[in-house]
Amino acid sequence: MTASQFSAVFVAALALSLFVRLWLARRQIAHVAAHRAAVPAAFAARIGLAAHQKAADYTMAKQRLGIVETVVDAIVLVALTFGGGLALVFGWTERMDIAPLWRDVLLLIAIAIVGGIVSLPFSWWHTFRIEERFGFNRTTLKLWLTDIVKGLLVAIVLGLPLIVIALWLMGNAGALWWLWVWVAWLAFQVLMLVLFPTVVAPLFNKFSPLPAGPARERIEQLLARCNFAARGLFVVDGSRRSGHGNAYFTGFGRARRVVFFDTLLARLAPEEVEAVLAHELGHFKLRHVAKRVAWSAVLSLGFLALLAWLATTSWFYAGLGIPAQAVDIAMTRPGVALALFILALPVFTFVLSPLSALYSRKHEFEADAFASQNATAAALTQALVKLYEDNAATLTPDPIHSAFYDSHPPAAIRIARLEALGAHAAPAPA
Ligand SMILES: [Zn+2]
Repeated sequence: MTASQFSAVFVAALALSLFVRLWLARRQIAHVAAHRAAVPAAFAARIGLAAHQKAADYTMAKQRLGIVETVVDAIVLVALTFGGGLALVFGWTERMDIAPLWRDVLLLIAIAIVGGIVSLPFSWWHTFRIEERFGFNRTTLKLWLTDIVKGLLVAIVLGLPLIVIALWLMGNAGALWWLWVWVAWLAFQVLMLVLFPTVVAPLFNKFSPLPAGPARERIEQLLARCNFAARGLFVVDGSRRSGHGNAYFTGFGRARRVVFFDTLLARLAPEEVEAVLAHELGHFKLRHVAKRVAWSAVLSLGFLALLAWLATTSWFYAGLGIPAQAVDIAMTRPGVALALFILALPVFTFVLSPLSALYSRKHEFEADAFASQNATAAALTQALVKLYEDNAATLTPDPIHSAFYDSHPPAAIRIARLEALGAHAAPAPA
């Protein structure tokens, strides 16, 4: 392949992904707007018109911001590649009187800083305009800024060593460096599965054991049936930042835990807490975290092998904006290949997002089925309806948009499945 051929392939992929993203966003806005006037029949008895219209407006506001961000991200990507942004940073670092490894580290940090600066205004607008307008925001500017600083420190402490190790292996581990980087990446992933719930998340929020009370009593039997240690049950002070409620399952081994947002707990009846917990335990019992980790391990091995090959081809560099006369030097700098790869890869993998979303929705259905066996489908349905209402989640997503992006099944389909499961289940013991 020649550099100009690869440029053409990249431009075509970028144009296609941009077109599909914008088309999906327009579809979502149009679909939600078209269904704004009335609550869908399946929810008419449970959710009021005002809440339904708030969800529609909130969904459309987020989509509109997403459209702007998609366009800006594409412009920044073009500026960094064909616009010569990355080539410029490469030139600066090349002239620095430091070891080659540190030139590459600086190059990657510079690219990360550009990405961070571009995303900041969108994060600010999301929190202080959209979330604020719909009554969800509880973050102060001070807390928002503190979070950014903490996030940076976490990235430096945890991410920087990984980058240094990867770059060192790329330059020193021979032709099979990508296998060694893969091993380092897997070790990092496992480490993060342990460190995220136990060390990183507590830097941002307070986690406390689920307090005693009717909800706790009710779920202790469930935990015993599912062989899950009660010390793995936490409440997080999500209300510090936002009114949104949620629950999630995270970690593995001794670090595994189920986390409830205090905002959610405050809204749910004890049997609904039990049902949500049963759903989260379903993710644990059915090994969903392990399966996702296994898939990402396979994919990352493929991507690293691809990077190893691309790094040896001059068209990969020249096709993404490195000047022809600098390609030979760029090919001696693993950081340049890595930076170009990180920038270009999402343009090509975007078409895979429906597969990842489909896989996630499969797990959600499985966890719902588990919950309907170990708690009740009716209680989970009630809990989900409260979650949809409190989070202003749209009940009427565009089907294609949903199939492309949504990690959770659309509300109507999910509730219909739960109702079918509930109808077939044996009557619960009194
Ligand atoms: Zn789930």
